[in-house]
Amino acid sequence: MSELVHSAAASRGTAAEIAPPAPDAVPDGGGWGVYGQELAVASLRRALRAGRLAHAYLLAGPAGVGRATLGRRLAQALCCEQRDTGAAEDVAPCLLCPSCRLIESGAAPDVETVSIGGLCDEAGAPHRDHAADGSTRIRVCQVRRLERLASLAPFQAARRIFLIDSADDLQHEAAQALLKTLEEPPGRTLLLLLASDPEALPATVRSRCQLLRLTPLAPRALARSLAEHADVDEVEAARLARESGGRYGTALRLHADPSHAVLRESALADIVRLTAADRAERLDYADMLARRWPRERASVLELLDHWRGWWRDQLLAAAGLAGGQPSGADTDPDAASESASALAALERARAHLLANVVAQFALEVLMLDLPRRSAPTREEDGARPATTQAGEQPNRP
Ligand SMILES: [Zn+2]
Ligand SMILES: [Zn+2]
Repeated sequence: MSELVHSAAASRGTAAEIAPPAPDAVPDGGGWGVYGQELAVASLRRALRAGRLAHAYLLAGPAGVGRATLGRRLAQALCCEQRDTGAAEDVAPCLLCPSCRLIESGAAPDVETVSIGGLCDEAGAPHRDHAADGSTRIRVCQVRRLERLASLAPFQAARRIFLIDSADDLQHEAAQALLKTLEEPPGRTLLLLLASDPEALPATVRSRCQLLRLTPLAPRALARSLAEHADVDEVEAARLARESGGRYGTALRLHADPSHAVLRESALADIVRLTAADRAERLDYADMLARRWPRERASVLELLDHWRGWWRDQLLAAAGLAGGQPSGADTDPDAASESASALAALERARAHLLANVVAQFALEVLMLDLPRRSAPTREEDGARPATTQAGEQPNRP
């Protein structure tokens, strides 16, 4: 508990150390309102100007970084009613015309979002609307609906646009079905696949999309953007920038809904407790998380994200850094390598979960791989259990 109090105090300290916003503005994608993603926006603007948009893009980056916003802006830039009246070079959507507004509200007839729990065309229960049936993946029937709609001419827009949010959630059969549309895309469609882990997608799907990577902003730049564009005071902006891991959308969500802050506090309390916990307690925790996974994928992934942020802070502290600046504290190579291995274990667990490795197994391995913080004696180190799980094949030489 004292460790938690200490870490909370430390994080407040580092937030306060972040300098107030500098006068130079963070680029917003030339009017696209997508902050800090200049490369991705510039690439799409070039393609739009040249009339050479690909038929499929993979917008890759962590959730909350701006993938869906970028996808929506591209749809708006394509459909905006004011676009022609501006300069020939102007490919920024106006965000004010009826078309831009419809897309922003999610009600545009030519822009369809495909996500867990969405619509399908199949007759009879449990089909039609999977919102209420506890779907945990994007189903193949939803992709069949996409396939059918893609074959129809758009209502008013130049293209029919599908936003797959996110491709990480595609059932195996759904990804295979999508491949058909990607291989022979109907002329007037645009597929935008959002993905946290593009490497976990089938290579055949990946290779048929143009990849655009979105990366988190540096905390200072994000704090500046929030203060300038989101009407957040500077101290709050600095806190949000740190807690969101540099992701603009996540920062706004944390700001708008304090319950996310509560989730974060409880995630941090858990990780502090678990780093000192014994094998039995860790396996109990893995079991509890595995049971939550099928129904609460997003919140389990969010929990892992918070843990990742916590270990990243530990790593920075061990490197003598705080808030991107030297903290004056001594560096600690042992703690640094411990944090690095925890981060690697979290990455592996995340990839396993998204690749549909049995959740129980992925989470137990994670729990056993997380370093033990307050193991005071060598004896306890020796008692650390082997990571081979029941039912797992022993390693062959
Ligand atoms: Zn417009
Ligand atoms: Zn269905």
